[in-house]
Amino acid sequence: MALTRLERLKFRLLADGVRIDPSAARAWHEQFEGPMTLAEYATTSGVSLVLPGELYVNAPQGEDADLPAFRHGSDGYVVTTSDGDVPLTVVPVPAFQDRTVRDRDDDTLQPMTNYGVTHTDRCRVSPIGGCAWRCKFCDLPYEFQYRKKRQEHLLEVIEAAAVDPQAPARHVLVSGGTPRAPIPDRPGRPGSDDEAWIDGVYGYLAEHSPLPVDVMLPPRKDLNHPFRLRELGINMLSINLEVSDPARTKQIAPAKARVGREHTLDYIERAVEAFDVGFVQSLVVFGAAIEPMESTLQGVQDLVDRGAIPVLSAFRPHASTPMRDAPPASLEEMVEIYERTLEICERADNGVRPGPRCIACHHNTVTLPDASGFYSGPDDDLTLRPCRVC
Ligand code: SF4
Repeated sequence: MALTRLERLKFRLLADGVRIDPSAARAWHEQFEGPMTLAEYATTSGVSLVLPGELYVNAPQGEDADLPAFRHGSDGYVVTTSDGDVPLTVVPVPAFQDRTVRDRDDDTLQPMTNYGVTHTDRCRVSPIGGCAWRCKFCDLPYEFQYRKKRQEHLLEVIEAAAVDPQAPARHVLVSGGTPRAPIPDRPGRPGSDDEAWIDGVYGYLAEHSPLPVDVMLPPRKDLNHPFRLRELGINMLSINLEVSDPARTKQIAPAKARVGREHTLDYIERAVEAFDVGFVQSLVVFGAAIEPMESTLQGVQDLVDRGAIPVLSAFRPHASTPMRDAPPASLEEMVEIYERTLEICERADNGVRPGPRCIACHHNTVTLPDASGFYSGPDDDLTLRPCRVC
């Protein structure tokens, strides 16, 4: 299939970014509170723009004169390319970004964004600061020390996000870092089980959140674990393959390599049994700096074969990681991987398409809405499904 001009523009903005004209910055600051981006993670560090046809894109900011220009004129916001102006709308950062939470442990005031951030319509909260793992393409373990956060503070942010006057959230993603593996009791030294602790946080948030709760987590040893997560009331799971080739995984995501590709795929398969096709997704990070395209596509094939939604996440280097100087995924790589992933999905014919399903969450992924009915727009119920539990 050939991409339309606007679809190609979305991928171009995702790959190369935009140059922000002072007219756009001025209009944005008159209209909204806060900065244009919270720039808190490599793949969400840009400005959130919406091209016609519900094409959401997180466009990194650049200075190059050849980049498309994000401007504001008499007809509103536009992006200007050599083909002319394309009108667009924008998604601001949430107003809660300048609010604080009183920490119940040390009575200090902490920015709400230490606990959660909304991008487009999804509030992402992180029960763990930092991560027990150290993937070389991810900034979390290099920027933040490992620490567990109180579930009550996460809920406070979700409640604020749900009624945010500037960027109200419709759903929640409880995301990484990865909890430390359980440590058994030893004489004179009590053990700990951060996996059990975080499962408790998932359950608490699923029970008390005013919004549906999705969870992103690495596979556990126990292949029955996804069934327990489903019983907690979690809406969707994201279990990320990220790197497909085992040798390359060992180099750039060594902890993930110790879990093993086969076990990860087995866990994903059980998750699909527990949650249904359409409710389990898996990010694959692509780009020449990560691994060869054919290897990534083998991962996509293995996910689709198991009924999991492949989410194509373009590698964007972060300055604080060991891969800071590696090249980002290119526009050509984006187009090729998207088209070939679509072919894999069409051949499998099991209802899976490139994810995520929420159209607003397409903003930092290589995905496009279509007429298949697979994707959820702003007025769709994100929890609609046959009940598997009752
Ligand atoms: S497991 Fe996830 S959060 Fe942790 S370092 Fe790897 S990519 Fe980052």
